[in-house]
Amino acid sequence: MLKVKLGRDTDKEMIETIRSVTDKPLTGDVNQGWKDKEKALEMLHWLKERNMVMIEQPMPKRTDLTILAWLDRTFTDSYYR
Ligand SMILES: [Mg+2]
Repeated sequence: MLKVKLGRDTDKEMIETIRSVTDKPLTGDVNQGWKDKEKALEMLHWLKERNMVMIEQPMPKRTDLTILAWLDRTFTDSYYR
């Protein structure tokens, strides 16, 4: 398993580069880098399709809990409902 730092504009390019050389499962640390919930949701789906198994600190620490709950529920429901 590899851990990668995310939260930059070049995240997708970096992940595609990693995927060109290994299929190992990935974990990602966003370090509060996703400021928008819709962008965060899109990235979660995109990363899951590329065998990202865990994401750490996706959004800023003072993000309203209802937004984090929406993100968790919306993402999870799309796979496990
Ligand atoms: Mg961290």
